[in-house]
Amino acid sequence: MNNTYDCLVIGCGLAGAVISRELAETQGKKVLIIEKRSHIGGNTYDFLNEDGILVHKYGPHIFHSGSKRVFDYISRFTQWRDYSHEVLADIHGTLMPVPFNLNSLYMAFDSEKASRLEKKLVATYGTDKRLTISQLRDQTDSELVELADFVYNNVFLHYTEKQWGVTPDHIDPSVIARVPILISRDNRYFQDKYQGIPSNGYTSLFEKLLKHPNIDLQLDTDANMVLKMIGNDILFNEKPFKGTVVYTGALDEFFDCRFGRLPYRTLDFLFETHDMTWYQSKGTINYTVDKPFTRITEFKHLTGQNIQGKTTTMKEYPREYTGNEGEIPYYAILNDENFELYRKYKKLTEGCSDFHLLGRLAEYKYYNMDAIIECALKLADHMIGVEKGKD
Ligand code: FAD
Ligand code: UDP
Repeated sequence: MNNTYDCLVIGCGLAGAVISRELAETQGKKVLIIEKRSHIGGNTYDFLNEDGILVHKYGPHIFHSGSKRVFDYISRFTQWRDYSHEVLADIHGTLMPVPFNLNSLYMAFDSEKASRLEKKLVATYGTDKRLTISQLRDQTDSELVELADFVYNNVFLHYTEKQWGVTPDHIDPSVIARVPILISRDNRYFQDKYQGIPSNGYTSLFEKLLKHPNIDLQLDTDANMVLKMIGNDILFNEKPFKGTVVYTGALDEFFDCRFGRLPYRTLDFLFETHDMTWYQSKGTINYTVDKPFTRITEFKHLTGQNIQGKTTTMKEYPREYTGNEGEIPYYAILNDENFELYRKYKKLTEGCSDFHLLGRLAEYKYYNMDAIIECALKLADHMIGVEKGKD
C-alpha cells in the first residue's frame, strides 16, 4: 500500500482537501487523505439535523475574502448564496451593530453627543475608515476617551475574557484587531469584496473538491497511529514512505507532546431547536456584557433555508483545551512563549524536505478559510516549482 500513493495528506479540512485536489489534478499525483473524524470538511462540516435544518457542527462559518484567486478557485466547487453576515451586540438589552459603527454610536449616546462624536471621529480619521480599539484608546480628547472606554468595556472586555480567559491587554493585538471600529454606517461584520455561504452547504462543496480519481480517503483513522517521523525518515504503516506528506493536524500531537502541549482554547456548543420561525433578528448576537456564552447564531439566517415554525440556534461556551478525549483545539493562543514552543516542534520536521505543515493547527495560526485556501494554493505553487527544478 505504501507504494500506491505519491502523497499522504493528514486531515480532511479545508487545508487538506485543497492541497489534495491540487496535487491530484495539477500534478497528477496519487493522494491518500487520512482523517480521524468520521466525516470530511474539518471544522466547516455542516449537516441536516433531525428537523431538516442545515447546521454547522463546529460553529458558524461565513466565507469572506478579498482575494479573487481564492474566490475563483473555490467557486469551481460551489455556487453561492449571496449573504452578508450581520452581528449585533447585546449591551444591557440594547442591540447594537458590531463592528461598532456610526449606527451603534447613535444607539449608545444621545443624538447631540453622538453627532459631536461623529464629527470628531471624521475629523480625526476621515470617513469610511476603520480603526482598532487600541488606536481609539490612544486618543487624548476627553469625549473620544469616553467613547473608547464605552466600546472597550461594552464590546471587547467581557467577550474577550470569556473567549480567551484573560483581558484584551493580555492577548495578541491582532486578535482584537479582527473586529475594527468603523467610521461608516456599514452594518456588515466583514467588509471583504467576496462573501457568501455555499448554496448547498460546505459538506457538499467538499464532496466536489474531493471528487477526483487520484484522491482516496480514509476516515476514522488517527494518522499519528500509522505515521511516524524517525530522524529524517517517514514511516507509514511501519514501512519507509518516500513521497510527499502534508500534515494539517496539531504538531505537538504528532510528536506525542514531548515538549509539552501547545495551548489552545476549545468551545462547547449547545444546539437548541425552537418552535418558531425566527429566534433573533440577525445571524449572530454577541453577548458582550453578560451570560456565560459568547454568542448565539441562528443558522437559517446564514443558509436562507425556508422552513416555517422551526429554527435552530447555537450557543458557544469557550474554555481551556486540555487535550482530553473528544476535545477539539479550535483557537491557537498567540503569544511569544507559545510560538517558541511551536518552533521547537517545527524544528523536528526541518530535516525532512518533503514533509509540509499546512493549516490552522499545523501552522499554529488564526487563519480564516480564505487564508487557508491561499496557503494551500501557494504550497502547491511551491511544489510545482520544486518539481520543475528537478527537470
Ligand atoms: P481543520 O478544519 O481543523 O481541519 C483539520 C482536520 O485534520 C480535521 O478534520 C481533523 O480531524 C484532522 N486531523 C487532525 N489531526 C489528525 C490526525 N492525527 N489524524 C487524522 N486527521 C487529523 N473562518 C472563516 O473564514 N469564516 C468563519 O465564519 C469562520 N468561523 C469559525 C468559527 C469557529 C467556531 C472556528 C473554530 C473557526 C472558524 N473559522 C472561520 C476558521 C475555519 O474553521 C478555519 O480557517 C478552517 O476550517 C481551517 O481549516 P484546516 O484544514 O486548517 O483545519
Ligand atoms: N471580540 C470581542 N467582542 C465582540 C467580537 C469579538 O471582544 O463582540 C474579540 C474577541 O477577543 C474575539 C476577537 O475579537 O476573540 C475576534 O473576533 P472574531 O469574531 O473574529 O472571532 P471568531 O469568529 O474567529 O471566533
